[in-house]
Amino acid sequence: MSTRPDLRTYGWKVQAERVKARDGYACQSCGSDSDLTVDHLVPVAAGGTTEPTDDELVTLCRSCNSRKGSRTEVRLTWRSPRWL
Ligand SMILES: [Zn+2]
Repeated sequence: MSTRPDLRTYGWKVQAERVKARDGYACQSCGSDSDLTVDHLVPVAAGGTTEPTDDELVTLCRSCNSRKGSRTEVRLTWRSPRWL
C-alpha cells in the first residue's frame, strides 16, 4: 500500500518541531544546541507507542541520542521533573 505517502512524515516533522520548541532547542541531556534530534522517551522496541504524544518525546543532540541505547543513566536524566 503506497497510497498515503507523506502524511505521517509531515505530521512527525510538525510534532518534532513543537517538541524542540518546548525544550528550548537544547539537548535535554547535555544542553547542546547543535545537531538536535527528537526521539522517543521509551523506545518502541521497549514497549513505547508508535504514535507518541509530545510528552513522550524528548529533544536530544545526535551524540546523546546515539548513546542512549546502551546507557540507562542517560535515560534517567531525560526524565526531568518539568515534563513528568
Ligand atoms: Zn546532548
